[in-house]
Amino acid sequence: AEDPRHVPNLAMIDPSAITENTRAMGTLLEEQTALMAVVKADGYGHGMLTAARAAIEGGATWLGVAHPASALALARADLDAQILTWLFEPHTARIVLPEVLASGVDVSVGSPEMLALVSEAARQADRRARVHLKIDTGMGRNGVLPWQIREMGATLREDDFLQATGAWTHLTSADDPSDPATDQQVELFDSACAAFADEVGPIPLQHIANSAATLTRPDLHRDLVRPGIALYGYPPVPTDVPLRPAMTLTSRIALVKEVPEGHSIGYGRMRTTTRPTRLGLVPIGYADGLHRAGSDRCDVLVRTASGDRRAPQVGRISMDQIVIDLGADSEARPGDEVFLFGDAGGDPGGPSASTADDWAAAAGTIPYEVLTSVSGRVTRKVL
Ligand code: PLP
Repeated sequence: AEDPRHVPNLAMIDPSAITENTRAMGTLLEEQTALMAVVKADGYGHGMLTAARAAIEGGATWLGVAHPASALALARADLDAQILTWLFEPHTARIVLPEVLASGVDVSVGSPEMLALVSEAARQADRRARVHLKIDTGMGRNGVLPWQIREMGATLREDDFLQATGAWTHLTSADDPSDPATDQQVELFDSACAAFADEVGPIPLQHIANSAATLTRPDLHRDLVRPGIALYGYPPVPTDVPLRPAMTLTSRIALVKEVPEGHSIGYGRMRTTTRPTRLGLVPIGYADGLHRAGSDRCDVLVRTASGDRRAPQVGRISMDQIVIDLGADSEARPGDEVFLFGDAGGDPGGPSASTADDWAAAAGTIPYEVLTSVSGRVTRKVL
């Protein structure tokens, strides 16, 4: 990897934003409802351990990750939270699950085959596995189908190395509160839980809600909520809950040049200047995580000696660089800081930076993808 001291591009991570966002989400919950901070995909690109510690500080008592290897890294950090991991296949499971279980991590099971893998790993670890049964109520991915529940419940009841700790599902359409799919899923979930409880007895932990459902559906909070994106400052539904972005992506101007009218910019000459202007070259591109599909649509914020100025990104986004149109009378200089998105922390009355939502809209995607696309070439600097 490149020496982080020598690269121009930084993702500045503000853990206090994650802490305060977690606390703000926590104010929506009844006292008996726990909050699981979803810190998969390296904490949505913010750094898994940074995100986990910050969320615990804000009241999270659970951490959720997709991969068992991530769960193991969390367990080794000895944080004050219970961990759940939910995505593995036989190859990974055989290598890592025994150690995951020995570390006290809860595992999700979404098929009879996964249950057999967990049982085998629990025997190797000589430890009873705490299992959350994942129920497929419409996502069609990981998850047990209604007619498999009783048989799996019976296996869980009869196998001394297995313990039914939870039942859960994931919503397909929670970001659209008017979509009837959510209520249909909840109905299926509740009847699945009833069948499961018939086999294994009362289920200690039922959980359904992602960020959107945590914000819009208090009736779905149940024993535990699992927000991810809201903790990083991007609520997927309109809300009054105060949430602020935790990541600010920055670069610096490498070159400023004066060009005449009619000067073409970048691959495909997507843009040609319509007046004499100053172009700024910024050494960040799609290999750093900017989406090429969002070319020529977003502004950046440039911190010049005479104040903050917004400047449009012009032409096609390249692998390592973008061009911005600074305007003919710009005082921007090489070395000036450029804010791609996030909180530039400038003068409150002055212009603000774009957001990951703006870049997502420009590229026809979602802020989740913008945040998790920030590549390994960008140094994370924890504030
Ligand atoms: N629960 C599960 C199973 C997930 O996969 C995710 C993320 O996709 C979440 C919760 C968190 O979702 P969100 O980031 O929309 O809050």
